[in-house]
Amino acid sequence: MIVVMRPTATQSEVDGVRKSIEEHGLEAFLSVGEERTVIGVVGDVERISHLGTLPGVDQVIRVSSPYKLASMQEEGDRTRVRIGPVDIGLGSEMVVMAGPCAVESREQLLETARCVGREGARILRGGAWKPRTSPYSFQGLGVPALKLLAEARGVTGLPIISEVTDPADVEVFDQHVDVLQVGARNMQNFALLKAVGQSRRAVLLKRGLSATIEEWLLAAEYVLAAGNPNVILCERGIRTFETATRNTLDLSAVPVLRSRTHLPIVVDPSHGTGHRSLVGPMALAGAAVGADGLLIEVHPDPSTALSDGDQSLDFSEFGALMDELRRLQFVRATGDRPAPPEERPVVASGIEDLRDRIDDMDTRLADLIQERAALALEVQRRRDPHVHGHDVRRERELLERAANSISGPMTPVELTMVFDAVLRASRSVQRRHAQSVVLGGEEAAAGNDR
Ligand code: PEP
Ligand code: MN
Repeated sequence: MIVVMRPTATQSEVDGVRKSIEEHGLEAFLSVGEERTVIGVVGDVERISHLGTLPGVDQVIRVSSPYKLASMQEEGDRTRVRIGPVDIGLGSEMVVMAGPCAVESREQLLETARCVGREGARILRGGAWKPRTSPYSFQGLGVPALKLLAEARGVTGLPIISEVTDPADVEVFDQHVDVLQVGARNMQNFALLKAVGQSRRAVLLKRGLSATIEEWLLAAEYVLAAGNPNVILCERGIRTFETATRNTLDLSAVPVLRSRTHLPIVVDPSHGTGHRSLVGPMALAGAAVGADGLLIEVHPDPSTALSDGDQSLDFSEFGALMDELRRLQFVRATGDRPAPPEERPVVASGIEDLRDRIDDMDTRLADLIQERAALALEVQRRRDPHVHGHDVRRERELLERAANSISGPMTPVELTMVFDAVLRASRSVQRRHAQSVVLGGEEAAAGNDR
């Protein structure tokens, strides 16, 4: 800490500040300049927060961060938090947490849990207590919802996350859920922060609606200081003057946090935008700026959701987003399983022989791909050109099958790249055909196929 004295400060005011520092067991280093005196302080400066009020003091400048436990000690020193079989943070795969805003019924939860698990989410979310702006809105099912979440974990194997709103509930949450969520409205509920700090479960701490990054990290410090090292931060948008989105998703917070804290960082594009159509793009953006995880609301039928339907993805939208995350390689195609490259014995006499075989194979591959494109074209010919569109689900299944093939030296990601290219080229053939039919009739289209 540096204490800057006023140019008009007297010697006895400077002595007064020095005395106060030393009385608190800290060391003071004076630097007397032409115009003013500056005093450097070494030690636990939390004890001398009153210095700014002493006579003759102009300003007090903090040099070290006030969040000792949350701060980054060294470049690259990041924490990995373990949630059952899932790791998040330092070097882990990006973790998608998904599920309904609120648990509404057994059927709704289990259906969603199965869907998000199938699509590659690693953690299931679901609100049991909903802190709603209006007391007349759906408030959540409470303990029965926790039990349903635990049942869904049993069915899918996905660890579960749910929001705790009252320190008195921490014990029952501990019994049922894997991650305790502290919501945006409770970011500075210090009693709650201390209570979750005593839990042995991981804590996901959302950013308050109007919290600065420093306030947010100090809130995390409460949990860490209470003894729980497993804190995950979640950017979920802040309140600004903008009304086009529900909140303003502050994605710059992600790289800022990465330079200040070792804690894992999650982005919530659902609450961050409030609109279903914006969730996918902002999820991808969150992944691109370095989030360790994403928190996404998914509902079997968002139009009937009891809370946050406008920002919930339906199953096919969620599936398409997961595809995109896989395509861009933010999440691995095969979940946890590393690809064990299997050695295939290659019998060949020399390099020339190997090259001849590769050439031969390339020719056969080109023929096969053309044959595949001819079939895809035939599919397009038989459907209405105005409703041109590919079958996302079949394509996804194909990519997943490719990704699951581990019978060669290619990793699932490399194999997915190949199939992705084949699918894109094939779609291009179909699209060209559909366009020429619309523009010039089927006959012209037939002539344009090649
Ligand atoms: C939630 O995740 O359901 C929620 C209420 O979020 P937030 O606290 O960010 O509003
Ligand atoms: Mn919600």
